[in-house]
Parts: sequence; C-alpha cells; structure tokens
Amino acid sequence: MSAITRRLITLKLMRMRQLASCVLCAAVLGSVALAQNNEKTGSHSGIDLSAIDKSADPCNDFYQYACGNWMKNNPVPADESRWGRFDELFERNQKILRNILEDSAKHQDQSALDQKIGGFYQSCMNESLIEQRGTTPLQSELDRISHITNQGELLDEVARLHDRQVDVFFNFYSSPDPKDAKMTIASIDQGGLGLPEKDFYFRTDPKSEDIRQKYVAHVAKTFELIGIPASEASKKAQTVMAVETDLAKASLDVTSRRNPQLLVHEMQKDQLPQLTPNFNFNQFFVELNTPNFSTLNVVVPDFFKTFNGLLTNEKMDDLKDYMTWHYLNGSAALLTKAFVDENFDFYGRTLSGVTELKPRWKRCVSATDDELGEALGRKFVEKTFGEQGKQRTLELVHEIEHEMAEDIQSITWMGPETKKEAMVKLHAVANKIGYPEKWRDYSSISIVDDDYFGNSYRANEFESKRERDKIGKPVDRSEWGMTPPTVNAYYNPTENNINFPAGILQPPFYSNQADDAVNYGAIGVVVGHELTHGFDDAGRQFDADGNLKDWWQKSDEEKFEKLSQCLVDEYGHFSPIEGVKLNGKLTLGENTADNGGIHLAYYALMDDLAKKSVPVSKKEDGYTQAQQFFLGFAQVWCQNTRPEEARLLAQTNPHSPGKFRTNGVVSNVSEFSEAFGCKAGDQMYAAKGKGCRVW
Ligand SMILES: [Zn+2]
Repeated sequence: MSAITRRLITLKLMRMRQLASCVLCAAVLGSVALAQNNEKTGSHSGIDLSAIDKSADPCNDFYQYACGNWMKNNPVPADESRWGRFDELFERNQKILRNILEDSAKHQDQSALDQKIGGFYQSCMNESLIEQRGTTPLQSELDRISHITNQGELLDEVARLHDRQVDVFFNFYSSPDPKDAKMTIASIDQGGLGLPEKDFYFRTDPKSEDIRQKYVAHVAKTFELIGIPASEASKKAQTVMAVETDLAKASLDVTSRRNPQLLVHEMQKDQLPQLTPNFNFNQFFVELNTPNFSTLNVVVPDFFKTFNGLLTNEKMDDLKDYMTWHYLNGSAALLTKAFVDENFDFYGRTLSGVTELKPRWKRCVSATDDELGEALGRKFVEKTFGEQGKQRTLELVHEIEHEMAEDIQSITWMGPETKKEAMVKLHAVANKIGYPEKWRDYSSISIVDDDYFGNSYRANEFESKRERDKIGKPVDRSEWGMTPPTVNAYYNPTENNINFPAGILQPPFYSNQADDAVNYGAIGVVVGHELTHGFDDAGRQFDADGNLKDWWQKSDEEKFEKLSQCLVDEYGHFSPIEGVKLNGKLTLGENTADNGGIHLAYYALMDDLAKKSVPVSKKEDGYTQAQQFFLGFAQVWCQNTRPEEARLLAQTNPHSPGKFRTNGVVSNVSEFSEAFGCKAGDQMYAAKGKGCRVW
C-alpha cells in the first residue's frame, strides 16, 4: 500500500474517532521493549551524542545543534518520503512484525489467531498468484457498475461500495454524538475525493497545476489497465476530475474542519429527502442493514446539496466512470504489479517524492496491521511489551496531570469560574496505556491463503459493519483508535481520554536506562502534549464528559484567542521549503499542545529532581539536567524530508515539521534560554514572561 493510501487510511481512522488529536504527522508503526542502544550513541544520559552538531550554536538554531549530525548521516532512503527517529523505530518494529507473521503463516494450524494473520500475510505475499489472476477479481463489481441504468441501481451500488469501504461521493460512519458523547450516532460527511483534500483542486500555482495534470494522467492510465483504449480512458479521467472538482467545491477545507462547531448539524432522518431528493438515504441505510435510528449528524449540509445536484439521469455515465475509478483506486494495492506501480507513481512519487516502492514484505506487514491490527497487535504485545514501561508511564502521566492542575491554578489570564470548570475537565481525563483491555474478535472474517483481494475486502466489510452496528448504542470508551505497535499517541476530545499505544513507550521516547531528564524531555513532553490537546483551540470546546459544550466565560475565551493568535502568527512565518509557509491556523492545535507540553514536562522534572535532591546543575555527558531535558525533547524530532513531502504536509498536516516543532517551542521558553545561556538578539532567546504562551 502506498504511503499516501496508508496515510489516508490513518486520517480516516482518526476521523472515525472524530477529531482525535495525535502527536505525529501520520501514524507509523513502532515497537516496544527493545534494548536501549547506548553503545551507538556513546551516551550515559540517553542523549544521542552522535546526532549533535557541535559547530552549530544552540541559541541560534537549536534544531541544527541537537540533530545536525543525525540529519547529515541519515538521508531519506529511496523508498521513504521522510526519515526521522520515529522511522528508525518503525523499521526495527517492522522486522518484529514480519517475524511474527512469517511464523504465523507457517503454523496456521496452531491457533485461530495464527490462521487469520498468517493466512492474510501469506495471501498478500503470493505475488505470482496475484499476477496470474490479473483483473479477474475486479470483474463482477465492474460489471455491476456498468449495468447501472437508473438512480435506484446507482444507490444500491453506492451502498455496496461503502460496505466495502470504497467511500464514493461521501462518507458514512458512526461517531459519538457531539451533544451527548456517551451515545453513538450516525454521521454523513463530505468525501469521495482522490486528491488529498479540497484545495488541491483549486490552487493556481504551477506546482499545484502540475499535480492535477499528473493526477488526471494517472486516472487515465489506471483505466487503461482494465483494457479501456487510451483516448476513451483520457476522456473518462477528465470526467472523474470534473465530478471530484464539484464535490471539492462544496467541501470544507482542512483548516475549517478543525473547528468542531462547523461540523455539527443534527437532523432527523426523515428530513433527509428534502436535503437530497435524488438520493434516498433511508433506502441507503436499509441496504446497509444499519440499526434503526432517528437522528443523525449531517456534517457538511451544503456538500449534500451539491451531491444531490450531481445525481441527474443525464450525468449517469459520468457518475459510473467516477465510481469505477474509485473502485480501481481502492483496489490498486491488492492487484498486479502494473496497478501497484501506477498507484505508487502518483501517490508515492508525484505527491511525496519517493523514488522507490517499499519491498513487498513491508507493504504486507502494513496491510495486516491495517486490516487485522488488533490480532497482530495482540501477538506483538505478548512478545514485546513490558509492565515496567507501563507503570512508569502511568506515574509520569499522573505527575504531568498534577503540573497541569498547578498551571491552571496559577495562570493569570483565566478567571475563577472558567478555572473551576477546567479543573473538572482535567480531573475527568482518563488514561489508556499500552493496549486494549479486550481484543477485537475477528473470528467472523473468512481469511484464506490464496485470495488477497477477497481477504482485504472481507476485512473491510467486517470493519464497516462493526462501525455501523455501534449506531444508537453507548460509546465503548475502552476501544482504541490506534493499534498497539503504533508509535504515536492521541487525545480524544469526545471521550476526554489520552492514549499511549505500547509502540511509543521505547527509545527515543522512553528508556529505563536514560536519565530522567531525557525521559521527561521526550515521553514527558508527549504526555504533556496530549493532555494540553484537551485545552487547545478545538479541545477546549468539549466539556469533561466529551460533549461539545461551552464552559468558558466570554472574557476568558477572548483572552485565550488572543494568546493563541500569537502562535498562529509565529508559526505562520515558518517556511519548510522555499515558497511554502506553514498554515498557522491549521497547525494551531498541535503547536498549542507542543508549547503547553514542554512547560508541564519541564516543571514535572524540576519537582522530580527536587524530590530526589538532584541539583539542576548536575551534569551527565557534559550537559546539565535542564540541557538534557531540551536535548531529549529536540532529538525526538530529528528528521529529513523530501521537498514534495514537505509541500504536501504543509498543505494538509496539522503538525509542524520537526525543525519548527523544536525551534518554535524553545524560542518561546525562557527556561531554555536560561539553560543554554542565550542572550537578547539570539534567534532562540526568550526573556522571562515573553514568547507565545497559552498554557
Ligand atoms: Zn497532537
């Protein structure tokens, strides 16, 4: 599966959990309980000394100082769009997962779990059989689409494709009710685009126009792969582009979608015929065997008016071309080398600048994690996860929560009424660490060794049914939005909980052998980051129970917005590559979380050192405790990124690149200036009480 497909799936996962905020640009896999590799770094503290560029001045470019040598020595591999310390974990982790899967494939008779994950992996690895089948697996669905003659048949097929997670035209999913977050409701939302998001259809700079041309060419070539002559394929591709451009026009952009207030429009199911007279949603729900419900969230109502306008009999052939393309696009990774290469050429090479496709085994490991993640994750946890890491993380979480409470009490811009509510919310945050209490049961999916295409679509059907069946039921807050090997973490505002999968509880985030100062700078800041998400521009709009409900005094809200604007302006000036600036509004929540997280973790460390009577000036590897803390923080973000990927991320990703996550934060923190002796006029300098600060 291409990097972008995988990323879109990740985004989809996050969307399912609605608005969850995480720490990384995209979920990547990682592993736990690997021995800390101190030999490599030559360090006692846990800092990667070999990464440091001593020729750089920490007060003028701390990122270059902390990561300069790492960046020089770790170019982006040919099959990656970027390479960072997260990816090093991913790499090591993939090897563990590969061993698990190869072992399960060989011993499928040993347990039902081995049969599922081993059979799935084996079917993915069987390239010769996939080549031999060619386009045969596509045929029955392509026939169904081509035989559509009226709107009723079109609706049947849209439902069928949705069941298989080919989300043509729009998205339909279940999510916590924003007004009563304990219950699950149905949601219909914008969707159905082949480019990453709305603005890709409308930007007028040469690079964006080039991407659109290449996209249309890619759609055409994919049509050719099912035997459609070039000239006809090219026409169909233009049609697809036209349909998607209409859908994009009526969609909200990524920045607007960060505001939860814009995403809530509850409606009675029986009002839907007025909204989309040409598409009988009630019939669509019947086709999908959806549990009965009366209210749903129409996330972007205008989008559905446009969708309705597209559904005319004159346009039927266009709509069929559009659906065919999305079915082919959703299936490409499951098909022959020709489809896989064509898919990679656009989504990997053009969009992200990757030069080489990942080896098959890596793609099959990722596919198994995507489709049967909690079965693979269960084996992974059995093999690797240590209770010690879990205990230590829990203690750390409690310390950081304590600091947040102190912070709320001590800030001067917030009045007592809002503070009281903030404390109620903070005390209600639930902590989830490692892996789910109960594992997902995949026993109803039929997995066979010799049918990768069928296995994948059956797993998709299982997942879409599982999501649909939640409608009308209480939300199960013990469920996880990430699989255990994931190197990432998230805050879920509708559940008011923070989640740390097993995968992130390892070096460079956490090590039993590293100094506390380094651990606080790394995993401590991550914990602080997630907790702060509950109080960022989006998270603050949800109350202690996860309901979208205003608990702020007006004057406090105004002050909050003024303080946030400082971050919007600061990050909006950063430029990851020439000609591209970061979007200060899109990245506001993550930047707020980074900037809040560092304060919480820093003061938690200071308390810890005081308790243990360790002086802040105590050095290890030549660095004081405070210096170690900031180096531990910065080195998590050492990375190199291809220019194409840097552009793509700046346009779509709510996270700032590593360089600005580091330098943006430390230049707001006077404690950093104190630690490194920075002076007025230095790039990273912040005087006490100066610099952007919300939390
Ligand atoms: Zn985050």
